[in-house]
Amino acid sequence: MAETKIPKATAKRLPIYYRYLNILFNAGKQRVSSTELSEAVQVDSATIRRDFSYFGALGKRGYGYDVENLLNFFKKTLNQDRLTNVALIGVGNLGHALLNYNFQQTNSVRISAAFDINKDIANTIQSGVPVYPMAEMKKQLQVQQINVAILTVPIEDAQKVTDELVSAGVKGVMNFTPIRISVPSTVRVQNVDLANELQTLIYFLDHYGSETPETKNSTQA
Ligand code: ATP
Repeated sequence: MAETKIPKATAKRLPIYYRYLNILFNAGKQRVSSTELSEAVQVDSATIRRDFSYFGALGKRGYGYDVENLLNFFKKTLNQDRLTNVALIGVGNLGHALLNYNFQQTNSVRISAAFDINKDIANTIQSGVPVYPMAEMKKQLQVQQINVAILTVPIEDAQKVTDELVSAGVKGVMNFTPIRISVPSTVRVQNVDLANELQTLIYFLDHYGSETPETKNSTQA
């Protein structure tokens, strides 16, 4: 199948579009204009039109976009019609919260296995997810064909655990630790530094009030 290379900023907005289209579809709406979509998802309509243009001409002038067509298209693009099992490493406070959350908004991702070094947590079931000892990580990841992992171990163990994940064949790591982990070029890392995000928010509020440069011009992510 031919793959369209889309800009990273566009790719980041796809789940936002997808979520809103789902709401429209469930409410029985058949079409949506880019202006309407723009107001709902807080992305300007020129950006929406440009984003959508990467996928070919999906909209019709004067009609807008067909909600079901668009939804099916995004579903395929985002692999929402396929379930991806994800592992979580480190069942501490944050790990527990994520297990409990377990991505209920989406039917396509779920944490199906967790791992922890602590003997009191290993071999238990937490929020419906089995927690395995670290010694079983490689085997379980391979047996369960998991290639995405969420990292919620302490900072000092982040790199070591990442190396183990890579050697077990993991291709994507969602890094919740505040350090930048090193991986080979074949592995992708998404960093989620909650403290940093919060500090950025506070910085913007202190310096710009609620009108940040992004809300003034939301074309760039
Ligand atoms: P947080 O709020 O960051 O989740 P916490 O204070 O609950 O942290 P941490 O000390 O950060 O706990 O550890 C998070 C979890 O990671 C704990 O359950 C701990 O047992 C586990 N852990 C620590 N080291 C490792 C490791 N090398 N491999 C796997 N799990 C680990």
